[in-house]
Amino acid sequence: MTAAAAVDLVKVYGRGDTAVRALDGVSVGFVRGQFTAIMGPSGSGKSTLMHCLAGLDTATSGQALLGGTNLSVQPDRVLTKVRRERIGFVFQAFNLLPQLTAEQNITLPLDLAGRQVERAFLGDLTELLGIGDRLAHRPGELSGGQQQRVALARALVSRPEIVFADEPTGNLDSRSGSEVLSFLSHSVRELGQTIVMVTHDSAVAGHTDRVVLLADGRIAGDLDQPDRDAITAALRDLGGRR
Ligand code: ADP
Repeated sequence: MTAAAAVDLVKVYGRGDTAVRALDGVSVGFVRGQFTAIMGPSGSGKSTLMHCLAGLDTATSGQALLGGTNLSVQPDRVLTKVRRERIGFVFQAFNLLPQLTAEQNITLPLDLAGRQVERAFLGDLTELLGIGDRLAHRPGELSGGQQQRVALARALVSRPEIVFADEPTGNLDSRSGSEVLSFLSHSVRELGQTIVMVTHDSAVAGHTDRVVLLADGRIAGDLDQPDRDAITAALRDLGGRR
């Protein structure tokens, strides 16, 4: 089953002489329960693709599908609801609210949606993430790695259909980065979570099931269970073709 898909997705920023075709006909599907990395040179359209699939931006043409919902044709009001109720987000910059405690940050999307928090699942997640004793702290009292683990708990606690992660290890030291990555892998293997992650790091992408390569707003490769060396080689080939 496909959790999310792009069908001939086109995104043009601006118009006339200054128009930029950030996505130039992208078709790709993300299978449920898989961990996928999106990679490619800077400016190749990675963020734009993820933003369109996550309902944070609307495409110029084509379809951005979440389950059976075509996000490209939904009004803002519906997109807000979809983002809150069906999608989890993890950003490079954590994006926690400084005035709320860790626990309040984690449950905020559910609270906004008027949904019950599954206390047992929240307990399991925060124990697994090693932040069980940090829940009353505010983000400013936590390390970067702890803040990103709070963000991971926030993304997963609602059991969303898909989690989009934008360079989730980009701001972390290598130890915290590996912890975040092993938790993401664990949530795919053990919880059946679907995750799509943008990264520029071949070592990070080597922990995923699949790597989708973008170049100039188009799909330029699709690697199944690649190791770090295969990814590095594919990225080098991309660079060579340009
Ligand atoms: P990546 O994430 O791979 O670095 P992006 O999706 O951010 O690539 O950008 C793809 C292209 O679209 C780039 O040429 C970028 O300059 C352009 N772009 C992205 N966002 C905007 C925007 N809001 N306005 C104009 N151009 C944009």
